[in-house]
Amino acid sequence: MNAGQRRVIIVGSGPNGAVYARRVLEQTENVSVLMIEAGPVLTDPLGMNVRNIPDPAAQTEAKLASQGPASGRAGVAGIPTGAVMEGTVTARQGTHLVGRAANGSGGLPAAAAATCVGGQGAHWTCATPRPIGSERIDFIGDDELDALLDEAERLLHTTHDAFGGAPQATAMLDLISAEFTDQGIAVRPLPVAGDPQVDGSMRWSGTDVVLGSLAESETHLERFELRPETLVVRLVVEGADVVGAVLRDVRTGVETEERADEVVVAADALRTPQLLWASGIRPDALGRFLTEHPLVFGVVAVKDGLLPPPDPGAAPVDPVRVVVGVRFDEERHPFHAQMLYSPVCPIPLPPDSPHFGNPSGYVGMGWGVRKWPRPQDRVTFDDAEPDENGLPGIRIAYEVTEREVAELDRAREFQARAAAALGEFIDGMPVVMPPGSSLHYMGTVRMGPADDGDSVCDSYSRVWNHPGLVLAGNGLIPTANSCNPTLTSVALAVRGADALAARLSDG
Ligand SMILES: Cc1cc2nc3c(=O)[nH]c(=O)nc-3n(C[C@H](O)[C@H](O)[C@H](O)COP(=O)(O)OP(=O)(O)OC[C@H]3O[C@@H](n4cnc5c(N)ncnc54)[C@H](O)[C@@H]3O)c2cc1C
Repeated sequence: MNAGQRRVIIVGSGPNGAVYARRVLEQTENVSVLMIEAGPVLTDPLGMNVRNIPDPAAQTEAKLASQGPASGRAGVAGIPTGAVMEGTVTARQGTHLVGRAANGSGGLPAAAAATCVGGQGAHWTCATPRPIGSERIDFIGDDELDALLDEAERLLHTTHDAFGGAPQATAMLDLISAEFTDQGIAVRPLPVAGDPQVDGSMRWSGTDVVLGSLAESETHLERFELRPETLVVRLVVEGADVVGAVLRDVRTGVETEERADEVVVAADALRTPQLLWASGIRPDALGRFLTEHPLVFGVVAVKDGLLPPPDPGAAPVDPVRVVVGVRFDEERHPFHAQMLYSPVCPIPLPPDSPHFGNPSGYVGMGWGVRKWPRPQDRVTFDDAEPDENGLPGIRIAYEVTEREVAELDRAREFQARAAAALGEFIDGMPVVMPPGSSLHYMGTVRMGPADDGDSVCDSYSRVWNHPGLVLAGNGLIPTANSCNPTLTSVALAVRGADALAARLSDG
């Protein structure tokens, strides 16, 4: 490092780590960024959404490469491999299971993560609804949170009129609206992160769009280095200060220590607390208040004549042609629902199914429900039985309570009405998905307004009492919400990154 030069290490190359890299570099002149990622590079540009890869074999290869050292375990019991109504069904290629149930608990059997440059942001469905009412974080002012969410939408390329020109979109919106709007429930095109293309398809956002020019391999930027296939095994802590990280090259096993002025850990909601635990940073709230979205999911075979038939000539890379969202409303509809229309069935159907090859296509519909934060829903770490990387084993204690069961029952009623408006469920649907299926894990490193034992970090994402340590990701979200979390966590990362850049510039 040159004199006066400062350095930030970022652990994790998903959308939240990318926010820190981009903003710190854009807002400073004297700071270099070393981004460490356990998984491999999949795409050029870095971190692109693999759904944009046109060649199906290459797409599958990129998904398999993201499944971590234990990729043989990928696939969750009860869900067919290749189930791809993303955002609503789990065990998708591209992810691998993480952790296991704590003794006496059902855990989150479907808990999964992606290990690759871009993180889960290389695989996500891109639904970016905003948190509403009680879903919002009340210790960040409303106007400020709205501005942060605006900036997050800009970074993720969120569009509010996806597939506006698709012939099926208007018809589907009309049918679902007719079912719900007289109750005051808002039905809208689902906000999604992507860039509409002239042929009517979508270029889905990945972490590439958040990285911006950092994602272009030909861009040589002196102050930025991405080190893939490198695992952070612990943070270097001196006194209470975090001053660096110990890195392991996963190809050679060689470990080195790197120093930094500040370290940002953006290693997902299960592996971020794992790394803190492994580093001896163990505040009371670490791993507690784990939430996700209990999910009821079904696929509807659309009734003939309701929607214009799909264009037989169109062979898009990704089959989704319409996205419809039903918004959260505290009283009337305390859920976020998403419906994705596709000419092809999003899950494999046996050829003898009455719904096989349905000429009018299919709609996958998921209703996500709130989980109320409780300290006993938590991730713990087993030093005696480490994971495949030698890091403390992840154990998950988690129960769905009567409160969430009641909300799931209520959600099913809304879902049944939407399904009846469009056609009928295919065999065996809808189903309440196994816990963990949402892939939206939150609360494990939650932020809070005060260091009162119920939070791990402050509202600028700085870990209480550990100067030099900043966290990012869905684990920071402290509320009971039902909206897909990435837009919110990216908004929080914008706040934390701008504060970090200001600190580093001030010297
Ligand atoms: C199939 C799928 C569909 C989804 N759909 C949606 C959706 O529609 N809407 C939505 O809001 N969200 C969705 N999500 C979730 C969304 O992708 C995540 O919220 C988002 O990627 C979180 O970003 P992140 O940067 O915090 O973490 P991640 O993207 O998870 O990235 C974390 C990275 O950290 C790395 N890492 C972990 N530990 C270490 C270590 N010790 N050393 C080095 N690196 C490490 C991991 O390898 C990973 O690459 C979906 C996810 C998947 C998989």
